[in-house]
Amino acid sequence: MIRFFNTLSGKLEPFHPLKKGEVKLYTCGPTVYDHAHIGNFRAYAFEDLLKRFLVFMGYKVTHVMNITDVDDKTIKGAHSEGISLQEYTKKYIDSFFKDIDTLRMARADHYPRATEHIPEMIQMIKGLMEKGYAYAKDGSIYFSIAKFPNYGRLSKINLKELKPGERVELDEYEKDNIIDFALWKHKKEGEPFWETEVGPGRPGWHIECSVMSSKYLGETFDIHCGGTDNIFPHHENEIAQSEAYFGKKFVNYWLHCRHLIVDGEKMSKSLGNQYTMRDLLEKNIDPLVIRFLLISTHYRKMLNFTFKALEQASASLGRMKDFLYELKNHPFKNGENKNVAQIIEKTRKNFAEGLGDDLNISVALRALFEMIRKVNSFIGKGKIFKKDAENLTDLIRCFDTVLAVLPEEKEDILPEEIMIKINEREKARRDRNFELADRIRDQLAKEGIVLEDTKDGVRWKKVRT
Ligand code: AMP
Ligand code: ZN
Repeated sequence: MIRFFNTLSGKLEPFHPLKKGEVKLYTCGPTVYDHAHIGNFRAYAFEDLLKRFLVFMGYKVTHVMNITDVDDKTIKGAHSEGISLQEYTKKYIDSFFKDIDTLRMARADHYPRATEHIPEMIQMIKGLMEKGYAYAKDGSIYFSIAKFPNYGRLSKINLKELKPGERVELDEYEKDNIIDFALWKHKKEGEPFWETEVGPGRPGWHIECSVMSSKYLGETFDIHCGGTDNIFPHHENEIAQSEAYFGKKFVNYWLHCRHLIVDGEKMSKSLGNQYTMRDLLEKNIDPLVIRFLLISTHYRKMLNFTFKALEQASASLGRMKDFLYELKNHPFKNGENKNVAQIIEKTRKNFAEGLGDDLNISVALRALFEMIRKVNSFIGKGKIFKKDAENLTDLIRCFDTVLAVLPEEKEDILPEEIMIKINEREKARRDRNFELADRIRDQLAKEGIVLEDTKDGVRWKKVRT
């Protein structure tokens, strides 16, 4: 059984998609006014883990992530650089795709852009006006939240604070401002605009997600995600727009990740702690270590991003890599150990059950590392055979379809001659010919292979030369 914490009910709920075996997933994507920062990537990494896990469990997932390429922030950015909105956002859209590829995030099925869905937005806005949920004022169009009694159910706001008739034009505003929000903003000097049936202007931020989710996923769909900052007003407004327009439930499961902070502090440009992928890659940090760190804290816990935590993530990932390496390169004897099949099954079960319990990554990783520890000690005792090594490799590769933190299969294979040298050194050590053993070790080090003798046997690591 899979269960998720649903922000809407405030409870853990068993997960049942609308259509058996299929999941329709919508995740709020980037506002392309700047390079995405490590906090944004926490949200995208959690969503990627969720999606990969559902695929691992056999679901066919249709994933849509919007790209907000027109809003208050993008318009301001383009204006200050004196270039067109399109020219301005292109830079950040390209950067976003490059970064998600670097972080091994599985591509969504659709990345609809707000600017490419203006006619559909107008249709929904007109429909909302006809149904009496929206009204025009000074050339702009607002959603009247007093007309939508379910308003506030997701964010659990107190509707007593509601200020009927007051309006906000800004895309982002605070919880103490429960007022009518803009669906369409009238044309302003120096701003991009579209000539439409509801007048010249541009869309508010929230309408795009209602329009694009229904276009690609249907009027009601399974899961909608984002960071907790999206709950109010963005997701609250999406629910109001979609449910008022279609007259049915918008989304069954709302999943939100808690924020990432840096060195215990909220990220901000002024503190200089707002890292982009570029900043981190310049420091020679392996992107897969970044990914490991981002996914290895449960999504509903605060994630404190520190360089020390990156080092720890690197060490954990190193253990996984060494294990895989050893399975590939150790001179195992032919045969099979029946106990290993049991260990594999138990680990697979714990991994899947852990993630199935509201994506409890700690339980899943614990199962994996426990197994690595156990098998390593078996290897040291000569209790692992060729067939076991193959099965264990398949298991790790299968887990990595969810985690996506290991080098690809084609990478990281040692040339045969190096394997021979390693074996020669092993023999020299057994023969107590330490001088020869050290000489081989030094030669290997020159070729970028570092050997470590542990109580469980020798381990190999590739280092950059
Ligand atoms: P934006 O580009 O600001 O619309 O944000 C894109 C996604 O990143 C949204 O799902 C946000 O909730 C999420 N997000 C923004 N900042 C953080 C943060 N510090 N930690 C986690 N998620 C964040
Ligand atoms: Zn959205």
